[in-house]
Amino acid sequence: MQKALQLRITAQDFSSKPAILQQIARALDLPADQLTGFHILKKSMDARQRQIYYNLNLLVYIKEAYQPLTLPEFPAKEVHQSVHEVLIIGAGPAGLFAALSCLEHGIRPVMIERGKDVQKRRRDLATLNKQGSVNPESNYCFGEGGAGTYSDGKLYTRSKKRGSIQKALETFVQFGADPAILYEAHPHIGTNKLPAIITQMRQKVLEAGGQIHFDQKLTDFELKDGKIICVTTLAGDKIKASHVILATGHSAKDIYRLLKAKNIFIESKPFALGVRVEHPQSLINEIQYKCTAAEMAQQGLPPAAYSLVTQQAGRGVFSFCMCPGALSPRLPPSRAPWS
Ligand SMILES: Cc1cc2nc3c(=O)[nH]c(=O)nc-3n(C[C@H](O)[C@H](O)[C@H](O)COP(=O)(O)OP(=O)(O)OC[C@H]3O[C@@H](n4cnc5c(N)ncnc54)[C@H](O)[C@@H]3O)c2cc1C
Repeated sequence: MQKALQLRITAQDFSSKPAILQQIARALDLPADQLTGFHILKKSMDARQRQIYYNLNLLVYIKEAYQPLTLPEFPAKEVHQSVHEVLIIGAGPAGLFAALSCLEHGIRPVMIERGKDVQKRRRDLATLNKQGSVNPESNYCFGEGGAGTYSDGKLYTRSKKRGSIQKALETFVQFGADPAILYEAHPHIGTNKLPAIITQMRQKVLEAGGQIHFDQKLTDFELKDGKIICVTTLAGDKIKASHVILATGHSAKDIYRLLKAKNIFIESKPFALGVRVEHPQSLINEIQYKCTAAEMAQQGLPPAAYSLVTQQAGRGVFSFCMCPGALSPRLPPSRAPWS
């Protein structure tokens, strides 16, 4: 039998699987040996009191074989012979997810990307960081994976307007992300893990019959009846297309200029100005946990995080992304050590 359970558990107990099972047994008033396992469906921290708790939504297995939670493979259809084709410009998150969506619908995605694949792109970043010289087509903004590829991969959006967040998270897991992102209140992929996930996505696109062409920059396109029918690349190639997705991102100023030159209506959006603020992690820990570093270690607490949301003179001010423990690598990890 399976039972859904909400459990409030100390951070210390959360770091040990037997301790969690014991707490579950107590909450359900059952002998511990009747429990065969559990899945975490949701996890959030409650740090309002001196004693820190995790609130867990669990699915508990009682007297029945425990089934590990596994996702099926990404449901890509074979598209080698598909008569339907979509040309996707840009292999950032929008382009890659568009390509995967094409595969789900049996449509062949053909992608062109001005930058290099995610591995070769890393070498250009090393040159940029060491020598200060920028490759205009392969840098922090351009190249496979798009703008945020070399960041921490925070996956918490406030927007629920477009599509299913859960499906996007599951897609990341299907391509190698830690399944903990499915239940963490503030999921993130983790520094330097995105390139491997993006590589897996590319391999799926290629295996299924899609195409990705790197070092191919769209420089012009031809319109007929308000639709793009052919695109031109920097090398002078002309690619005919019946359906085109322009997934070129915020940084591609040349694309905005091209759209303007072609009298295509574009409208500016209000934008948010970002600043980077650094605090000592110990200060945030003290404010959040109200305990000493030794007590924190004893309770197995991760570096504390915070988010700020306020209104100033009628404008929203919010923290977009916070990297707890960025300067304190020796503090305990935020995930359960047994997971
Ligand atoms: C340093 C950094 C960290 C970030 N961290 C996070 C985070 O943790 N969480 C989060 O949610 N968001 C984060 N973001 C924001 C996130 O990266 C963007 O919202 C996202 O990348 C937008 O995706 P996109 O596919 O629309 O555009 P982009 O990622 O910009 O991708 C566009 C792609 O199109 C290609 N391209 C552009 N012009 C052409 C052309 N003419 N021909 C062919 N190809 C072209 C580019 O090379 C690029 O690969 C971060 C951004 C940066 C810069």
